[in-house]
Amino acid sequence: MTEHGDDAARLLRRAAEHAIDFRLGVDGRPVRAGADAAELRDRLGGPVPEAPIDAGAVIDDLVTASTDGLVAMAGPRYFGFVIGGSLPVAVAADWLTSAWDQNAGLFVGGPAAAIVEEVAGAWMLDLLGVPPTASFAFVTGCQMAHVTALAAARQHVLAATGWDVTTQGLAGSPPITVFVGEERHVTIDRALRLLGIGTAGIVSVPADGQGRMIAPELAKAMASADLGPTVVCAQVGNVDTGACDPLDEIVDAAQENGAWVHVDGAFGLWAAASPERAYLVAGCERADSWTTDAHKWLNVPYDSGFAAIAHPEPHRTAFAVRPPYLEFAAGDRPPRDQLDWTPEFSRRARGFPVYAALRHLGRSGVAELIERTCAHARHFAARFQAGGAEVLNEVVLNQVLVDFGGLDRNRALISAVQEEGTCWLSGTTWRGRSAARVSVSGWSTTEEDVDRSADAILRAFATLR
Ligand SMILES: *Cc1c(COP(=O)(O)O)cnc(C)c1O
Repeated sequence: MTEHGDDAARLLRRAAEHAIDFRLGVDGRPVRAGADAAELRDRLGGPVPEAPIDAGAVIDDLVTASTDGLVAMAGPRYFGFVIGGSLPVAVAADWLTSAWDQNAGLFVGGPAAAIVEEVAGAWMLDLLGVPPTASFAFVTGCQMAHVTALAAARQHVLAATGWDVTTQGLAGSPPITVFVGEERHVTIDRALRLLGIGTAGIVSVPADGQGRMIAPELAKAMASADLGPTVVCAQVGNVDTGACDPLDEIVDAAQENGAWVHVDGAFGLWAAASPERAYLVAGCERADSWTTDAHKWLNVPYDSGFAAIAHPEPHRTAFAVRPPYLEFAAGDRPPRDQLDWTPEFSRRARGFPVYAALRHLGRSGVAELIERTCAHARHFAARFQAGGAEVLNEVVLNQVLVDFGGLDRNRALISAVQEEGTCWLSGTTWRGRSAARVSVSGWSTTEEDVDRSADAILRAFATLR
């Protein structure tokens, strides 16, 4: 098959038709997957094909074999974990990203990709209440955004003691102490593991009933420690409750002790983009680094995370690379080679879908998306309470934690709801107590979807009571 021939055009159009069919049908299908692992293995597995197979047949077979093994995460009634849908404009830009096939590590690998990241990065800083002088990186998700931001933090806090981790490594370095809230996300710990800081250096600070770090407890813990290089990891948007740490008080305590403040705002940082919710992240602009996702609340396809760092110097020192073979004949001096700011080398041009989503929504559209999904969460909570269940959290953002009567009942209810297929929700243990959790993160959820889903959940509840 030739790239420019009719075959390629037919193949790509056909794939687009399959994708469009899926998108248009996503509202009408059960939210859960139909096929199980054994069926999928049976359809998709087997030995390496010995000879080429027609490209059109590969795509058609892939669609036939996979479709009922997909979950309707892109649909309006998926409420598990914290999962955004994907805005059509962002999916369209993502298709183009694949088709354009730029290696967006270097400016010369795609000048448009580089400039779009520059523009989209500045828009992100603006919308998220981060100083415009911050450096940034588009990465795969909040996990790698933590690694990026905390690598800069590690560089910075050790440099202050005269230790250059970039050349000297960590063996023999002054130990780094990391204060975290006890209800932090697990990706903070894993970032510290990957960075060689380790979890032994973590001091866990007590949190309140909503999961917010108790700032006076942080101040107390810092006062009683023998502090060298220090990082404080705050969180806005607890993955279960949506609660946000009191950033102003945390920054006060941290700055008094010369600590770097990192903010995990995987979804919660988007509160800054909503005039109604921004109070939750007051003081955010005073932090040293921030991380968030575009694939959660901004509703951009996977995978799309973002790190911002108030101190470009240690950020660049931690990542810059310049091997001789990256010399090229470009006339322009590149404004910014993305690979100097990211852990990846070759990388996807993931700025395009973010740019498209932000340009389409605008400031008011982003605010409206955040406020609308928060209102849906409050509506869910009201329906659950009216139906006799106990809502365990203050519904300040898009998360609802609800107890339908203990572990066994919650488990049975979650299974029954998932199986019935109207909507999908997951479970958790919140401070020792079993709960079901609902996260409203998708752009396409309407109030009718909330009511239909609440009806399905309360029907299952009635059956189990
Ligand atoms: C989802 C989440 C993460 C991890 O983000 P990924 O994009 O999955 O890597 C980190 N912190 C919080 C609070 C989250 O909700």
